Amino acid sequence: MQGIMSLCDVCRSRSATFYQKHSGLKLCKHCFFADIEERVQAEIRRYNMFESSDKLLLALSGGKDSFVLLDIIVRVHDASKLVALSIIEGIRGYNRPEDVEKLRTITRKYGIDHIVVTIKEVIGYSVDDFVEAQYSMYGMIKISPCTYCGLSRRRILNLYARKIGASRVVTAHNLDDEAQTYLMNLLRGDPARIIQVHPLSPLLSHSFVRRVKPLRKVYEYESTAYAYLKGFRFQETECRYLELRPTLRARIRHYLYSLEDTSPGTLLRFVEFMDLLLEPYVKRQQLPELPRCSVCGEPTSYRREVCKLCELVTMIKNAFRTKSNEQLNPHR
Ligand code: SF4
Ligand code: ZN
Repeated sequence: MQGIMSLCDVCRSRSATFYQKHSGLKLCKHCFFADIEERVQAEIRRYNMFESSDKLLLALSGGKDSFVLLDIIVRVHDASKLVALSIIEGIRGYNRPEDVEKLRTITRKYGIDHIVVTIKEVIGYSVDDFVEAQYSMYGMIKISPCTYCGLSRRRILNLYARKIGASRVVTAHNLDDEAQTYLMNLLRGDPARIIQVHPLSPLLSHSFVRRVKPLRKVYEYESTAYAYLKGFRFQETECRYLELRPTLRARIRHYLYSLEDTSPGTLLRFVEFMDLLLEPYVKRQQLPELPRCSVCGEPTSYRREVCKLCELVTMIKNAFRTKSNEQLNPHR
């Protein structure tokens, strides 16, 4: 055991409390917070994510990343132009009201309006309903709950952003999320989706409010340490559907972590490289406006008449209808 606590590599005066693997630096709390905040600000400036006049809708789940996002954003943007939105997925044992309450104590402190909605009240069915519908229809889960959950959350964020007149939706995606999404779309050979990960990607519909991700260069391990060192009591319960995440993403996540373990900094270099490589291409993109879903009227993918979310909602409706018919006529 070392007798003397090492000093911070940056200020050389305070004791180091955090080892930043990807840079090899030992940092004190103060220099670590400053480093994260500077990197987030640099990313916001680099891609002109928002300006002081923008009204921002903050997507806050209650996890560590949302606390970090909130903590930094109130220092770089006027709180009167911030609105927080927490979406309750409707997953048993997860996303409990007390977790949202913890976030509320901070939004209240800064005078930020905080809206809380459930997927069920906006879309019609919770994530648990989606799972139940699949069991009653197929006796198993064929489509990952994450697909329904992600589509619903994205839809709700966009609907609320339009409703409150926000010019940006700010999410707390971190570097690990970003690297996984880039690699997943690369492996799928899906150029349209790869472009959508880039911060300068074109908006494909006038009905979309631009999404920005200020934490996209902050590692998940840094965000966890930041939240702990600041004393935030964030939600640590894991979603019960975590292991049902689409297989490719789960494998990529595992693979990227093993790469990062043996060669710290890999994820950061990969995302930076992809950003640079795509930038000229993304800027030249002129894609036609997305078509509208014939059911809900929201934008849908090219060559689709009904959006994926409406397709899933119809599936749930049919499953529940069949189930209740069977209950009414058990001998049919
Ligand atoms: Fe939603 Fe999947 Fe995350 Fe659970 S693990 S909250 S279902 S995206
Ligand atoms: Zn639709």
